Amino acid sequence: MPGSERRPAVLILGGTAEAAALAGGLVARHGVALRVVSSLAGRTERPGHLAGEVRIGGFGGADGLRCYLEANDIDLLVDATHPFAATISANAAAAAERSGTPRLVLARPMWRRDPRDRWIEVPDVTAAAATTARIGRRAFLTVGPGDLGAFAALDSVWLLVRAISGRAVPPLAAPHEVLIARGPFAAPAEEALMRRYGIDLLVTKASGGAATEGKIVAARRLGLRVVMVRRPPPPPGPKVESVEAAVEWVGERLGTGSG
Ligand code: NAP
Repeated sequence: MPGSERRPAVLILGGTAEAAALAGGLVARHGVALRVVSSLAGRTERPGHLAGEVRIGGFGGADGLRCYLEANDIDLLVDATHPFAATISANAAAAAERSGTPRLVLARPMWRRDPRDRWIEVPDVTAAAATTARIGRRAFLTVGPGDLGAFAALDSVWLLVRAISGRAVPPLAAPHEVLIARGPFAAPAEEALMRRYGIDLLVTKASGGAATEGKIVAARRLGLRVVMVRRPPPPPGPKVESVEAAVEWVGERLGTGSG
């Protein structure tokens, strides 16, 4: 009887648009034949809709995640977290290895640098804040609320801060305005925003992906300098850059691949 058969299960470590699209793609392709579970850290107050099952909160380190994989009969693990979420990615690599769970990394491609781009690459957000203090007058900060603490003491630069929720924005010494907004952000609107606020410096992490590339294109068109925080080293193991390739990887392991 089909209802009593064990269904294979995939765990998606999420918190990104790509992870949400992957959950949707897997549910669309496999229907009830596959359990699709998305895991979120729980940082966002109102996460968008996700297809399949959702669990929220940390696992308690690599061993906690290994226990979760084993206790929940997870067959496949896809790490579709943000390129800067290095701790969970390292935990995923360790947990998958210890439990023998096949793991794939879905990492969005980095933005391609154009000859007109004026990027100043820095190793971390502390260096980004120091560079902003040195060369910025009116800076647009898009690093995410978790990294705004590095800019808290800055007081010589006016800041435009964009965040998904105002609750997570720490107190800032500099005069500033907070914009609450959720991507995607298109280039023409980003350009108009930067013009309206007289922005002379964009500060961003090298997150990549189409949803937030608009600000990079806008800064290019306006000839603005961009302080770009480099990505941490990627986690080990097999990687794909597109949701379609991740759907295919899952299908191949389940024996339902298109090839
Ligand atoms: P992190 O530093 O790599 O992870 C810190 C801890 O948060 C992990 O050790 C884990 O706790 C928990 N965690 C992280 N992602 C989780 C997930 N998907 N499901 C369950 N627990 C998770 O991560 P972060 O940089 O704070 O990012 C947190 C989440 O926000 C990630 O899911 C990421 O995809 C998303 N995000 C991050 C950024 C960014 O710039 N970092 C941007 C956009 C979205 P335990 O050790 O207890 O398991």
